[in-house]
Amino acid sequence: MKKDDCIFCKIVSGEIPSRKIYEDEDMIAIMDLNPTSKGHSLIIPKEHCRDLYEIDEEIAAKVMKTAKKLAQKMTDVLCCDGFNLLQNNGEVAGQTIFHFHLHLIPRYKDADNNLLKFTSVKLTDQEMDNLCQQLKNS
Ligand code: AMP
Ligand code: ZN
Repeated sequence: MKKDDCIFCKIVSGEIPSRKIYEDEDMIAIMDLNPTSKGHSLIIPKEHCRDLYEIDEEIAAKVMKTAKKLAQKMTDVLCCDGFNLLQNNGEVAGQTIFHFHLHLIPRYKDADNNLLKFTSVKLTDQEMDNLCQQLKNS
């Protein structure tokens, strides 16, 4: 169901313009308005859902299949050298638009890449073991 105050619902319905690169019955893909690399795009399911916690499993699977197809096509067309898929859930994770979307980010060897860098947190072996047990046994 469309959510009245959602930018991506408005893009899906055409109320807000976008540069669409793909569409099927369940989703669209559009170019990101503030690209982090040449070709940075977003896959957006047509049906409103907030994030990974809310998305229907079947739609989630279709999103990943579409990502595979588009990543190949974008690599062929744009001649990029690598690719990031990024999907943020929750404000704390960097989500700013609360309608599920998957970022498609082509990467180029010679570009000024805004690479996503992870800094590692220090955890003891005991903490790592505990986390592993917690996750495995839940
Ligand atoms: P996130 O931080 O994962 O929620 O990503 C939201 C993305 O949507 C950002 O990369 C924005 O640049 C992009 N964005 C916001 N408004 C628009 C719009 N009207 N058309 C295309 N992309 C947009
Ligand atoms: Zn929406």
